[in-house]
Amino acid sequence: MIFKCKNCGGNTVYSPEKKQMHCPYCDGAETQDRFDFPEFEGNYTICPNCRGEISTDVHTASSRCPYCDTYLIFNERVEGEYLPAYVLPFQIGKDKCKEMLKEQFKKKTFAPTDFLSEARLETIEGDYVPFWLFDYDSVTDFTAEGRKVRRWTSGNYQYTETSYYEIRRNMSAGFRKVPADASTPMPDEVMDLMEPYDYTQLQKFEPQFLSGFMSEKFNLPAIKYVDRVKVKMQESIDAYLKGTYTGYSSVSPLSKTTQYNNEQTHYALLPVWVYHYEYAGKKYPFYVNGQTGKIVGKVPVSLPKVLAYGGTLWGALALILVLLSFTFRFM
Ligand SMILES: [Zn+2]
Ligand SMILES: [Zn+2]
Repeated sequence: MIFKCKNCGGNTVYSPEKKQMHCPYCDGAETQDRFDFPEFEGNYTICPNCRGEISTDVHTASSRCPYCDTYLIFNERVEGEYLPAYVLPFQIGKDKCKEMLKEQFKKKTFAPTDFLSEARLETIEGDYVPFWLFDYDSVTDFTAEGRKVRRWTSGNYQYTETSYYEIRRNMSAGFRKVPADASTPMPDEVMDLMEPYDYTQLQKFEPQFLSGFMSEKFNLPAIKYVDRVKVKMQESIDAYLKGTYTGYSSVSPLSKTTQYNNEQTHYALLPVWVYHYEYAGKKYPFYVNGQTGKIVGKVPVSLPKVLAYGGTLWGALALILVLLSFTFRFM
């Protein structure tokens, strides 16, 4: 489908600034009409606006015609089993994204001169990345031996007293909407750094949110990402557990088991601006969280360094969820 303006026939797109559909040609608001067209001929599609041939990937859910800039949304990739439960609409528009990149990197004098040029920045594309969001209730049983050592001197003797403690914890933690990106081309470690997203702004999916942006459907089913989210949850559980036993000289863990119950999965599209910068034959992709503006990327210098600005790691968010629902049995 494409969305055409009722007034002028132009391609209407979703505007993050206005938070509604907008026609960039006549400035109309909410003037869109849905228009369906025959979508695929093998691995390409014919633009219904200019008849240009556009190559697509097996996962492409929406794309921009490179000849006339019309945004095409592919019905069969956003319906049926590929219908997202939620979409988190872009909150940051393209102009704001450009400003944020300029602000962040204006002092990086070692960056190439065209890094922040208008022509290069104009190539930034908004991308809805497919994510699986997992809910779990977990129960962790943990035992360890803690030791406290006290030393003192009396007369000609030095004394050492070691006390042994049995540490037992039984902790329940509820996790809600733990994210795993379901896009194979998107690097997992970068998508993890894009977090956290504020899920209170999730909305029921409507296809017009995709107009103006690129998107993919999920590449693999949720089951393929379970191990990845369990690693994330276990890190949060371990960090929290560790904070519950302090004051020992040393602690030796004896056993730890975590059970994950009541799994629920939600399919959602989350917003990321992508700046594909190339320098001296090398690619330096920059990613900007389309909701929070958090920037992740490698600065094109001789020793590229992963930088993550503004925002906290997902662990902090998970911790809050754990805090809300913990129970302990101290022994
Ligand atoms: Zn119009
Ligand atoms: Zn076209």
